[in-house]
Formats: sequence, structure tokens, C-alpha cells
Amino acid sequence: MLHNLFIGEQADLLARRQLSSVELTQHYLDRIARFNPQLNALITLTAQRALGEAAAADRRRSAGENSPLLGIPLIHKDIFCTDGVRTSCGSRMLDNFVAPYNATVVERLQGAGGVTLAKANMDEFAMGSSNETSYYGPVRNPWDTTRVPGGSSGGSAVVTAARLAAYATGTDTGGSIRQPAALTGVTGLKPTYGRVSRFGMIAFASSLDQAGVFTRSAADAALVLQVMAGFDPKDSTSVDQPVPDYHAALQMPVKGLKIGLLKEFFDGLEPKAAALIQDALALYRKLGAETVEVSLPSLPLSVPTYYVVAPAECSSNLSRFDGVRFGYRCAAPKDLMDLYKRSRGEGFGAEVKRRIMTGTYVLSAGYFDAYYLKAQKARQKIADDFKAAFTQVDLVIGPTTPTPAFAIGAKIDDPVTMYLNDIYTIGANLAGLPGISVPCGYVDSLPMGLQLIGPHFSEGRLLNAAHHYQLQTDWHRHIPRGYES
Ligand code: GLN
Repeated sequence: MLHNLFIGEQADLLARRQLSSVELTQHYLDRIARFNPQLNALITLTAQRALGEAAAADRRRSAGENSPLLGIPLIHKDIFCTDGVRTSCGSRMLDNFVAPYNATVVERLQGAGGVTLAKANMDEFAMGSSNETSYYGPVRNPWDTTRVPGGSSGGSAVVTAARLAAYATGTDTGGSIRQPAALTGVTGLKPTYGRVSRFGMIAFASSLDQAGVFTRSAADAALVLQVMAGFDPKDSTSVDQPVPDYHAALQMPVKGLKIGLLKEFFDGLEPKAAALIQDALALYRKLGAETVEVSLPSLPLSVPTYYVVAPAECSSNLSRFDGVRFGYRCAAPKDLMDLYKRSRGEGFGAEVKRRIMTGTYVLSAGYFDAYYLKAQKARQKIADDFKAAFTQVDLVIGPTTPTPAFAIGAKIDDPVTMYLNDIYTIGANLAGLPGISVPCGYVDSLPMGLQLIGPHFSEGRLLNAAHHYQLQTDWHRHIPRGYES
């Protein structure tokens, strides 16, 4: 079955001319028509355009070009601007917004011959952990459609898990790639802050947002990161550092690797989930890695710190949506104030409004020192803890989430409980570090993720360690029931 092949295998067939990109694209479009109605993973389908891109990729292959992503179909999270295609960010505010240019991520993948099938559903403005805040309705988890897929890149995770595309892009501000990857049984990579350009990626919390990718294996993630990564003069926080050969990095041995077990990640973790992580550690030891316990004493501060910093930045970033320049405008405004108020009041959903209000509050005169400044200090402490840990170990390991996928509706009315889903992922964002989640087994028949976090720019090492894990296990090959053929 074509959709069960990894990117590398599909690329081999394309290179040997045993398969055309048009055939592969049509295969995925048929699967989308069959399965998406029950998953609601997409906002906009770009089928005609995809077939055109596929034909162009086939011509490039006929002309002798041969690169791994040439002619391989993907889906973009609807946070990435796509020239001439609606880019909604999961919001009513941008329901009618057709982007006039491409995000750098889109541009690079397009240049490499990627075929864009669709734009994926997501939490509104990437705020959420369950994909229930989207204006376009909740996304459903293919492992159990009564459950959430995680968020905010839930659509991207689901299309990868259900094999509706070979891979999908996502963004991770507080866990939005790793958490949904864990809950849907796929591989999710969040690169170092600054490794991949944020240009054309609709901003949520600019000091935390980072683009990354959902694939079914670490080896596939290496192929995609190779194209996405690199300096972009259009993003002032993009880092001008050479991009290593990630595919070559996969081959390094893990013998001698020093892995830190994060003590704080096990406090209160249910035994079945903890056992999966212990199994992974045992496997790494068998491969010759050394494992030691490390502690990040400030890590318990990460959720409260994030929920001050992220709303503060979002309140500023989202002030541009005023009913004048972009997107939704209310009907018949009576004056300018009315236009602002009703356009924003009607255009944004409840979670976005909650964040804007919180953010405005923590930045206001009189509260700034007590909240925002304090959060920035805590953020520094968390980053310092990671730095100290990386003097002892090459990477740290733990679960990606405390629990498997929960029921749709279970947490949406209780923001604090919802925010605690990100307890294991947020630290890496506050410190700007890369992280990867790979499937590592099941709790109550639902997939769980193993998370690896490394120092800045250690993507090669993370992919390498994840790849060796996947050479020894087959969790990443499992397919949700009903989506096999
Ligand atoms: N769940 C977190 C939030 O709601 C993280 C979101 C993200 O990474 N985009 O802010």
C-alpha cells in the first residue's frame, strides 16, 4: 500500500519511475475523500493545484532531477501563508483571508518539489491542546474518533497518522507538534528556536513559535528538516548557522551517548506511562548508551511561566486584527470603536479572547513587574537548568504527555486542566531547545510518546537517537484500525 511507505521508500519508487507523483497524489486525494469526513482534519483542499504540482514534479524527474521530496505529497498547517490559498489560522477572523505570499517554509518545500494537498485544521491561532478551539470544529483522533488528537497542530498530526499525506508541517509554541504527535502515534519534531524561518507563519507568541514537521519516522523527519532548516534574511530571529547533513547524522552510533532521565517528569506520572519510558531507557542501555537521572528544579514553573509569556505576546501580535486591514469585519459598524469591538468580538473565539485579556492584564502598568517580569526571570531559570543538565548529558528523555488522548469535550470548559497537558513540552520552548516525540507504546489502547530534548542545534543527535529507537521497535509502523488499506 502506497500510503504505508515512508517518504524515502516513496522517493525510491518515484526515482525508479515505478510510480508517478500524479498517481501518488491521486492516491492520497482518494484517501482524503474517504476518511476526512470522519476526522475533520482539513480546512481547505487544494486538489487541482496538487495535481498540477505533481505533474510538474514528474516533469522534473523526467528531466533527470532526483531529490527526496520531489513529488511527495504533504499538507500544511493552516498557520502557514500559502500564496493564493485561504490561510485561516483556524479562526473566523481569517476565514476570508487569501494569503498574498508564501511562508518561507512553504516556499522551500515547494521549491524541493513538495505537492501541497490541503491546509490542515488547527486550534484557533494555535491556542489549544486538543484542537477543539478551531472555528472549523474539532479534529478527531483516528485511534478513537470520540477522542481529541491533541493540539494545536491536531489536523497535521491526524493526516500523518491516518496516512492522508506523506508528512505534514506544524508549529510548536508550547508543545503543539510533540503533544499531538504523541496522542496520534506519529513522529513530531520541534527544531531549535531560530533553526527554521518563522516568516509567513502567523504569529502567536513570537519568542516561542517554531515550525517543524510530522512524519512517521525520524528518518523521514531528517529528510524534511534538511529542506525546511536554514537562515532566512526575512526572519530576524532566524539563526545564520550551517545546516548539517541530517541524513548522515542518523548513522552515528548511540554507543556512549549519555541520556538524562528527567526526574521531574516522573512525579505523579501514572505507572503504565512511566513503564513505557523505562522500557525505552532499557533499550538505549542495550544499545550502549549510558543513562543517569538529572533534575531540572525550576521545571515545575514552566506552565505558569508560559501562561504569562505566551498570552502577553499574543495580545500584542493579535492587535493587528482590527477589522480594518485583515479578515473579518462586522456588519454596518456605527463608528470606529464599534467596528473594532464588534469585529474582534465576533471574529475571535473564547480561548483567543481569554489569552488576549490575560496578556493585556499582565503587561499593564502596575502588574507588569508582578507577572510579566517575574515570568521572564523564571524563564531564564528554566533555561539555566537545561544548560546545567546538558553539561552532564547529551540529551534528556521523558514522556511527551502525562496521559493518552482524552475525550472530546472532557477539558474544554476547564482551561487550567487543559493547560496542564503541556506540562512536559513547554520547558523546551521557554529555553528555545529542540525536541522530538516518537511513539513508544500504548496506555489503554491509545498511543503514547517518548520525548527527547537536546541542546540548541542538536537536531542531528535527536534524530539519530530517535532513529536508533525506531530501528529496534515498531510502534511507529502501527496503523490505526480502519485506515490500513
Ligand atoms: N497548548 C499550548 C497552548 O495552548 C501550546 C500551543 C502551541 O504550541 N501552539 O498555548
